[in-house]
Amino acid sequence: MSPVQNITVLGSTGSIGLSTLDVISRHPERYRAFALTANRNSEALFQQVVKFRPRFAVLREESAAEALRNRLRGTGSDTEVLAGTAGLIAVAEHPAVQQVMAAIVGAAGLLPTLAAVKAGKRILLANKESLVMSGQLFMSAVQESGAQLLPIDSEHNAIFQCMPADFSAGLQRRGVERILLTGSGGPFRTLPLDQFAGVTPDQACAHPNWDMGRKISVDSATMMNKGLEFIEACWLFSAATDQVQVVVHPQSVIHSMVQYVDGSVLAQMGNPDMRTPIAYGLGWPGRLVSGVEPLDLVKVAQLDFQAPDESRFPCLRLAREAMEAGQTASVVLNAVNEVMVDAFLQGAARFTDIPAVIETVLERCPLVDAVDIDTILRADEEARRLAQEHIGVRKT
Ligand code: NAD
Ligand code: MG
Repeated sequence: MSPVQNITVLGSTGSIGLSTLDVISRHPERYRAFALTANRNSEALFQQVVKFRPRFAVLREESAAEALRNRLRGTGSDTEVLAGTAGLIAVAEHPAVQQVMAAIVGAAGLLPTLAAVKAGKRILLANKESLVMSGQLFMSAVQESGAQLLPIDSEHNAIFQCMPADFSAGLQRRGVERILLTGSGGPFRTLPLDQFAGVTPDQACAHPNWDMGRKISVDSATMMNKGLEFIEACWLFSAATDQVQVVVHPQSVIHSMVQYVDGSVLAQMGNPDMRTPIAYGLGWPGRLVSGVEPLDLVKVAQLDFQAPDESRFPCLRLAREAMEAGQTASVVLNAVNEVMVDAFLQGAARFTDIPAVIETVLERCPLVDAVDIDTILRADEEARRLAQEHIGVRKT
């Protein structure tokens, strides 16, 4: 391995992407931003290219990529601009890359993240949707290629830190009783139930503790984020659904815990700042300065815990049931959720339509234990089509 590691940041203009570049820029002697990618925000990508001078930049549309190419030529930049899924895959599996930060939001992250896995990279996994969609396929690909999978989602990063090093031998064999997956409960933890239907996108995106992209912020407000994380935890740690317990912890200081058979509970704590798990992933097994403020427990003063209320947050139940029902149920859950969150953000659906439509489509879709990528992509497409029909019905 070269002394300076090349990092591809998939989704570099997003919330996780920006935090990743912040950590990387604190350690120029160790890490280089090799490839940066964005969906449509070519202005932000242009600024990042000027600052980090990566070997590659990728935009979704070829026309936008061409415009960026022309603009960069004027600055004397030698960054090569690629486009589309093929461009994302090329920078994810490029032989010169050691680590890939998977920080695209949603199903769009699946193919490039899997490409990085198959190429045997170290994967810093923020894009939980890719694992939710492809569970077994994803984990088998990690095993086969020898890729190193480091969870960046703060809860899973915490769990990883609290697990015994050889947890892959089996949780029971290593004395792990269960995983305690914490969640803040989001902005509507105490909102009266009769007000849920009227909440606005801005209210849903105003998370009490974390500053994140809009999709995951809405997921936190419905607690679908915890549902997706429940599925993510089952796959990452080979845990049965009854080995993962969701615990509401409003302060977001404990990021999750592991309970052992001897009664010990190990927790990982810190300020709610994604630069901690990102630095952990980049530096593992070492530790890196991340720029995160040290935790002041006296200032925190109090840590609270509650059981989650599934009547208030049906998405939690739907996710658990989907995990138990087989792979395509998780694909459908994720796809309909993406469509409905987008519709909610556009003002075309109510907040309460999100779980309602997910449940309806789950009941209508045939469920199989999908193990190949084509079955997964077809189920994703069909679920999106059915979800769109429901939005169409509501608008009229
Ligand atoms: P974001 O919306 O801020 O950023 C998403 C990034 O993906 C952007 O760079 C965007 O340009 C790119 N992108 C979006 N759609 C794309 C497409 N179709 N094709 C190619 N690129 C596309 O999202 P975020 O909050 O940074 O979250 C990214 C991922 O990390 C999500 O899967 C989220 O669940 C996960 N995550 C985020 C946080 C957080 O604190 N933000 C915490 C844990 C996990
Ligand atoms: Mg999380």
